[in-house]
Amino acid sequence: MQMEWPPIPPTTTGPRGRCPRCGQGHIFNGFLKIRPECEVCGLDYGFADPADGPAFFVICFACVPSVLLGVWLEVQYSAPLWVHLLVTGPFMLATCIPPLRPLKGWLIASQYFYKAEEGKLARTSPAPKKV
Ligand SMILES: [Zn+2]
Repeated sequence: MQMEWPPIPPTTTGPRGRCPRCGQGHIFNGFLKIRPECEVCGLDYGFADPADGPAFFVICFACVPSVLLGVWLEVQYSAPLWVHLLVTGPFMLATCIPPLRPLKGWLIASQYFYKAEEGKLARTSPAPKKV
């Protein structure tokens, strides 16, 4: 029996870690480990390959507040190294680790929604024969 699944926008399923097809099952088996398949609809997550995408977005955007904090502490107070280890370091972890899972879920759901996959060569007709 083939069931029809209405398209669900990836912004509503991925950040919550829900299956991009049914919206009920879970994508993750742990913090960032992807399940082999959805436990509700059976969608095979073999297609899911966000690679370094979540880390890229965290590096580009989520690190900005911690860098600003570190620069501000240094410029304003000439903070010693131990202050940066106790303040800037934990702040950086607190701003960089939590967004990883929603970003990874969003990228996986977007991969499914937009049918993104590795590029392939498409041949429309066989090569012409030489006479
Ligand atoms: Zn599912």
